[in-house]
Amino acid sequence: MRTEVCITVDTEFSIAGAFTFPERYVPLGEEVVRCVVEGREEGLGFILKNLTHYNQKATFFVEALQTSYFGDVPMGRLVNRIAKAGHDVQLHLHPCWLQFANRDWKEARTRPNDSCTGRSDRELDEMIGTGCYAFGRWSVPRPIALRAGGFEIDRAVYRAMTRAGIKVGSNIGMGIYQPQELALRLSSGRHWIEGVLELPVLSYLSPTVKLGKLEWRALTITGTSWPETKLLLMRARQCGISQVVLVTHAFEFIKSRDYRFEALRRNRLNQSRFCRLLDFLRHHEDEFVAVTFREASEKWLNSAPAPDFSLRVPLGSAFRRIAENVTSDHLPI
Ligand SMILES: [Zn+2]
Repeated sequence: MRTEVCITVDTEFSIAGAFTFPERYVPLGEEVVRCVVEGREEGLGFILKNLTHYNQKATFFVEALQTSYFGDVPMGRLVNRIAKAGHDVQLHLHPCWLQFANRDWKEARTRPNDSCTGRSDRELDEMIGTGCYAFGRWSVPRPIALRAGGFEIDRAVYRAMTRAGIKVGSNIGMGIYQPQELALRLSSGRHWIEGVLELPVLSYLSPTVKLGKLEWRALTITGTSWPETKLLLMRARQCGISQVVLVTHAFEFIKSRDYRFEALRRNRLNQSRFCRLLDFLRHHEDEFVAVTFREASEKWLNSAPAPDFSLRVPLGSAFRRIAENVTSDHLPI
């Protein structure tokens, strides 16, 4: 059986300092997803172009609560392009956007809570409902999968998903956020949680610069070098991990001077990592296959759960990645 690789792209707009400096800044929309550099889209356009070129499919987890600030149109345009290119669109939620439902948001002196954890059932039902309505207005199928913003998750979110009929989650990313409940600290596999089938983003253990210490890292384009990604794919296959979930964002493919997305440049290192992954998948079709959540969910839901298995990268490759990332961060282009 081939190892399934789920390329997931969290597609979201940016608060971009508007809560910290409400008089000076407003949130940024399409530009932080399109990421135009010298007239060319190095974010979403780059991703879609290369998925087509290498004939691979991805799942875009699209943030829907930003509609309370932007309305339906800006994200609707992007969703339309993603769906037209044949990719999967699923639901992503960052609750901080609900702050804009309050007309006096500029007066609020407290930073809004962007976590899905610790929410009441009613709040969660409203958030998921708001997201699903937005999908309807964007004319894309109702979501069957959810990813909570920042991977901040607790059991109440899974119960709300079950109530809403959203049967699949990809809410856990140990390298990014470790859930309070130990049973939710999962790094791979397929797990039933409160009636939802959870497929965590693959997290792996890596040595750190502090010798003898290990840290959890999520499988992302920015955070994982290509040799490490390849090694993790091979090890996942050897260990019988049936799905490898990777997460990226359009903004990972550009560099910007600050959070206002000014003076954008291409991120050549991350662009090359993404293309090498797609090229690898194309040339190893007998061992790996890229699948989307929508196309594979029925099969996953009807299969037995798969255990959590922790992968680890060796010291040498972790240090090479640290050096590679530091060099890239300091390159002028
Ligand atoms: Zn997000």
